[in-house]
Amino acid sequence: MKVESLTQFTDLGLVETLLRALREEGYTTPTPIQAQSIPTLLQGRDLLGIAQTGTGKTAAFALPIIQRLIANPRRPEPGSVRALVLAPTRELAAQIAESFRAYGRFARIQVACIVGGVSLGPQRQALARGLDVLVATPGRLLDHMSNGAVRLDRTEVVVLDEADHMLDLGFVVPIRKILAKLPKERQNLFFSATMPKEIAGLAGDMLRNPVQVSVTPVATTAERIRQEVYHVESTRKRDLLVELLRRPEVKRTIVFTRTKRGADKVAQYLTAAEISAAAIHGNKSQNQRERALDSFRGGSCPVLVATDIAARGIDVDGVTHVVNFELPDVAESYVHRIGRTARAGADGAAFTLCDDEERHLLRAIEKLTRQSIPATDRRQPGARPLSEAPRGAAPGGRNGKPQGRGGAKPAQGKPANGKPAHGRPAQGKPAHGGQRPAHANAGGRPARNDGNRRPAREAGGFSR
Ligand code: AMP
Repeated sequence: MKVESLTQFTDLGLVETLLRALREEGYTTPTPIQAQSIPTLLQGRDLLGIAQTGTGKTAAFALPIIQRLIANPRRPEPGSVRALVLAPTRELAAQIAESFRAYGRFARIQVACIVGGVSLGPQRQALARGLDVLVATPGRLLDHMSNGAVRLDRTEVVVLDEADHMLDLGFVVPIRKILAKLPKERQNLFFSATMPKEIAGLAGDMLRNPVQVSVTPVATTAERIRQEVYHVESTRKRDLLVELLRRPEVKRTIVFTRTKRGADKVAQYLTAAEISAAAIHGNKSQNQRERALDSFRGGSCPVLVATDIAARGIDVDGVTHVVNFELPDVAESYVHRIGRTARAGADGAAFTLCDDEERHLLRAIEKLTRQSIPATDRRQPGARPLSEAPRGAAPGGRNGKPQGRGGAKPAQGKPANGKPAHGRPAQGKPAHGGQRPAHANAGGRPARNDGNRRPAREAGGFSR
């Protein structure tokens, strides 16, 4: 994110029903596109958003739409739709519908997702009842329109998401047909990552005096940064971290955690494992921070454990590695984090420790950066199975020492079987090499699911 917004959700004019849902989602601060769009959208203005997935754009439009619906509560008429969201793919449509359900969980709104590839009957029934929010792909929506299952003459707000992707998929003509059926008086939201001529033309025809919000994500990761992801249970992350930090090539490293408390805990664990580490975060005094940074720069403390916000001011050359101990909530932070290494023409590597709960965040990062991060399979010949690690061992263990394999002494020699002690990938490369898609991971499932961040419970279906 270019600007780390200090705005809070409470500053944006959102009602408590939504603030409560956001708290439940665990969101604390709005992303820049949210901070910039929400107040404008609450005023009823049209919006042109230049933003891509990973920036938080779904909440940027879903929250004001839900607020608009609940500020003027009325039952949608049978066969009609109060808010229409058009998305290019089934997966994206399912995610958007899921987001509306999550943010609208205390608002009692009727949401349906209507996409191709599934039977028409149940979708017809959902439409017949009338909907607050319909998320649809253009082709299937047109089918229902031509069968008279849905009418859009009472629609108050329309969103066109990923418009440039719509163009790639040949949806511009269907979209124009759909827009022609909407009432003239309506609010229009238009999102696109890029603005090819045809898309700019469509935006020009659709929007009236729009506010333009552009978030230019630092979506490109430096090619010199070698990226690897380790699929690992959360309880085993600390041991894996110790293992990674003990690799000879890993010298000056920043370890990122999501919370201040997490940063402290990780630093304590490393110290107990005789790896010199300091935590920096907002609860440390200026003095403590400066001391930690000095020893990091000077080399006496090679590992700095930081939160995203604390790391913002750090400018240290010669960082060989970045470890994402936890994935960031906002995909763009990943790009900022790993950009701490491979500076000034040097090479660098970024290791990401991803547990099952974090897979959707990984997918959001892969979508944003438009690349797959190769998964490293630690269970290769020579890798020590993680089953030796203690489950959920507290930092420092009961007697103030780390337990199990991450033991208090650096593992120098080789284990009894004569194989290297650590789970280094063969030839020190990611298991799948280079930047190719990582299909094998711990769960044997594909690492990517075409950007489907959450399990699409009702992909292709509907729910009320
Ligand atoms: P989007 O760009 O809408 O696809 O969102 C990208 C990811 O960021 C999703 O996993 C969202 O759940 C998450 N997200 C959106 N807004 C916030 C926020 N304010 N704080 C933390 N995470 C967020």
